[in-house]
Amino acid sequence: PSSSTETKGHDPSKAKLPNGLVLDKDGKPCRLCTDAASWRSLTKQAKASSSTPASTTATTTTTTTTSPTANGCPPDVEELGRSTWTFLHSLTAAYPTQASTEQQTEMRSFLKLFSRLYPCWVCADDFRTWMAEPSGRNEPRLASRADFGTWMCEAHNEVNRKLGKKEFDCRFWEERWRTGWKD
Ligand code: FAD
Repeated sequence: PSSSTETKGHDPSKAKLPNGLVLDKDGKPCRLCTDAASWRSLTKQAKASSSTPASTTATTTTTTTTSPTANGCPPDVEELGRSTWTFLHSLTAAYPTQASTEQQTEMRSFLKLFSRLYPCWVCADDFRTWMAEPSGRNEPRLASRADFGTWMCEAHNEVNRKLGKKEFDCRFWEERWRTGWKD
């Protein structure tokens, strides 16, 4: 993930290794922090030296490129991210139009824990840092579904920007994640 190159620069465990590989905090390769192509290049040498027939290798590679989990493999950083965004945006879609104080408190707690426990730790670190931006402008806005949905869209756009992806127009978050597009 690009975040590994943008980390604060003092923690050696966050250094980005060649081929996009990101290490876990124990110094071992972090699969959930690394894209599938980089992971494959890490394991290519080992695979090449194995006795696996070439035809089997080719089939495996093709399927893995489409979706690691579709092939019964653990997710990479991208597949984990796609699934998680589906969950997070769906959470906003199911949020009350006007939330009670208790509902807001519960969601705030969830987001705090989420930002600590998300399994791609470099992603989690950056997400937490963004939420805690000193001016307070990125704090979760939880008074209503509209507020929360827009906030989540902005959070996702922050990651999109970091990864060089196109930003999503947050006026349309609800069509994308709740009502569906008008014909
Ligand atoms: P995704 O970004 O996964 O988006 C899925 C779908 O959501 C899109 O197809 C689009 O229809 C819709 N969408 C896109 N943007 C928005 C938006 N702003 N609002 C609403 N809907 C939208 N990956 C890294 O490599 N480095 C990181 O540091 C990193 N941090 C992450 C932090 C979090 C909290 C999460 C959940 C994921 C993170 N990821 C990170 C994964 C990354 O965001 C993507 O999920 C992954 O790269 C796959 O991207 P994608 O292009 O398939 O679409």
